[in-house]
Amino acid sequence: MFNTNIINRFKSLETPFYYYDLGLLRQTLDACRNASAQYGFHVHYALKANFNPKILDTIQSYGFGADCVSGNEVNAAIEHGFEKSKVVFAGVGKSDKEINQALDADIFCFNVESVQELIIINDLAEAKNKKANVAIRINPNVDARTHHFITTGLEENKFGINSWQLNDVTETLRKCANLQFLGIHFHIGSQITDLEVYKSLCIRINEMQDWFEDHGFPVKVLNTGGGLGVDYHHPDTNNIADFEGYFKVFKDFLNVKPGQEVHFELGRALVAQCSALVSRVLYVKNGLKKHFLVLDAGMTELIRPMLYQAYQKIENLSQKSEVRSRKSEDSDNDLGLKTQDLRLKYDVVGPICESTDCFQKDVELPESFRGDLFAIRTAGAYGEVMASGYNLRDRVQSVYSE
Ligand SMILES: *Cc1c(COP(=O)(O)O)cnc(C)c1O
Repeated sequence: MFNTNIINRFKSLETPFYYYDLGLLRQTLDACRNASAQYGFHVHYALKANFNPKILDTIQSYGFGADCVSGNEVNAAIEHGFEKSKVVFAGVGKSDKEINQALDADIFCFNVESVQELIIINDLAEAKNKKANVAIRINPNVDARTHHFITTGLEENKFGINSWQLNDVTETLRKCANLQFLGIHFHIGSQITDLEVYKSLCIRINEMQDWFEDHGFPVKVLNTGGGLGVDYHHPDTNNIADFEGYFKVFKDFLNVKPGQEVHFELGRALVAQCSALVSRVLYVKNGLKKHFLVLDAGMTELIRPMLYQAYQKIENLSQKSEVRSRKSEDSDNDLGLKTQDLRLKYDVVGPICESTDCFQKDVELPESFRGDLFAIRTAGAYGEVMASGYNLRDRVQSVYSE
């Protein structure tokens, strides 16, 4: 992602900023489109992972649909050219205003998360003399084997409708003349790297679609959600998710009947690797037991490490770009080590007035100095979109490879 030219370009730029490698984004989108197209699968991009306008325009140009979790995301998707007929709207707390926006936009489908929500969508659709397409988001009670902060498909989670409530769902659907039942929807969590998990999901989906058909509701759409993970530890050598392996699990284990459509909602796997947060070292604090690097970026620019205990690789770009000349005149020290070989353990922290504002503890790095450029890798998903104005910080900037 980084070469000397790019790092030299960064030297004159104000930090912090998100750097987007649009070439890598396109390679990722190509890989996903090719892998899904061979089975005729439909892919929606989950906007919440990154709604940077340039990213949205690029993804839209590949013909993907949009998976939205707010009324504003529905509007943004349509403004950026995603086809209305490919927009789905999920979320456990859709407000009346948001439901009305989506009804006005004639989106493809509401992914509905409770019986009460079904009734409200029906009432609002009736008032507009419209029929709303709905899919039932079912909580499959499948363990995504990911961090518990980003698990969504267990009965203890707030998302979806549990299987013992499904009789209530079909009774409600029968009464609601302004709802059109399209199918069933699932989303069990994020950063899923064990593909066996999706095999378990397929088995549950097969049971659930049979249940609906047995109760007189033909299932046209099987929406399996998203969650495919990326390799946060190897952002250079493994920079494109295993789309082939992922879609093949569904091809092999999902019981797809004639006329049925299979839908996916991918966020992280499409955008995570194409971006890094670039920052400068403001201060180096050498303590007795600990060394701190204080960066000019913090939890206000990238909150994943603090919010989810997430690992993101941290690199000193200045050391990467040049053999450090600053001290290397007197290079060979008593031990015969070159200065650039000196590695130290640092806590890499931000400037925000919170003790949790720490990207990573005990990171082994080359000796680092004030002004060094740093990259926090794999920051394209749930990075820029979660930036905040806490401490009245400047809004984080974006820089593109082209
Ligand atoms: C967030 C979300 C996704 C995307 O999840 P990723 O882990 O980014 O792939 C898909 N579907 C729903 C309903 C979501 O809330």
